[in-house]
Amino acid sequence: MKKNVMTRESMIKQLKEKGLKVTPQRLAIIEVLLENKDLHPGARLLYKEAKKKKKSLSLSTTYATLNELSRHGIIKTLQFDKMEDRYEENLEEHINLICERCKKILDYNVSIGLDQREVAKKTGFSITDTRLEYYGFCRECREEEESGKG
Ligand SMILES: [Zn+2]
Repeated sequence: MKKNVMTRESMIKQLKEKGLKVTPQRLAIIEVLLENKDLHPGARLLYKEAKKKKKSLSLSTTYATLNELSRHGIIKTLQFDKMEDRYEENLEEHINLICERCKKILDYNVSIGLDQREVAKKTGFSITDTRLEYYGFCRECREEEESGKG
């Protein structure tokens, strides 16, 4: 499986293809998302960082932009019960490793190798989305925990 790396240019291309205007606000949000993709940032962090690039950006515009990008399949929204929505640009098959302590989300790129067409054929279930998550503790949090004990 070839990894499709998202760049600022490929995101702009997608905006244009989907008939979305390339506004400075949208660009600022996209840039910040790409710069912080390892964090899978939420809207508040994206807003805070994107505002440094584009002063006129508002929180409501940030939410609206993220919804729009997500609705058009340019990025993916991860919704959770107990923490704010997070956003990712990695649309390839992968596992999200979610730290229960610092709420960091790491990507583990792996081909799951499950044939979705086969699942659909056997069950009559039409798959529209997939999400794979492992919960636990990241390296930094584990090290902190261990040093705290010693
Ligand atoms: Zn952590």
